Amino acid sequence: MFLSVKEMELRKVRFDETFRAGQIDFSGEDLTQASSLHATGTAELLAGAEEVRVRGQYQVEMAAQCDRCLGQARFPLDARFDLYYRPMAEIARDEEVAIDEGEAEIGFYAGEGLELEDILHEQVLLALPMQRVCSEACKGICPVCGKNRNETACDCKTEAHDDRWGALRNLNP
Ligand SMILES: [Zn+2]
Ligand SMILES: [Zn+2]
Repeated sequence: MFLSVKEMELRKVRFDETFRAGQIDFSGEDLTQASSLHATGTAELLAGAEEVRVRGQYQVEMAAQCDRCLGQARFPLDARFDLYYRPMAEIARDEEVAIDEGEAEIGFYAGEGLELEDILHEQVLLALPMQRVCSEACKGICPVCGKNRNETACDCKTEAHDDRWGALRNLNP
């Protein structure tokens, strides 16, 4: 859905959109939109400014490969956003102002407005944890035999084990 600034000049634009699973492309981020994404909210032009405020909420379930065991990790997201955007032309006009530190939260739009899909794509990436694991308790893959330790317990000795036994042995005279 395109959020048109021309339309915002007349009224506050409301959106209530559903993107079917996989509709928003996350292939560049090794992610999949595993469920439909539902987003509701408003886009408005702030009085006396060319600044656009977009706020709303969305729900979606994302899927990625677990960083530890390479199995599938799922991330149900239910998040809100409240964003400000300025027209791109304004940066060219006074570039100095755009670099001001306090304005880091402000985004920019080019042309006639913003694509809701692009906003949601960015918001989903921000909402995901840095480490993508299937569960906090995921034991990962054994570095020795390569088995998924969530499925099979193996008897491989890892470095940490050896050190501990070594330390115990040293305690005995
Ligand atoms: Zn895992
Ligand atoms: Zn092993």
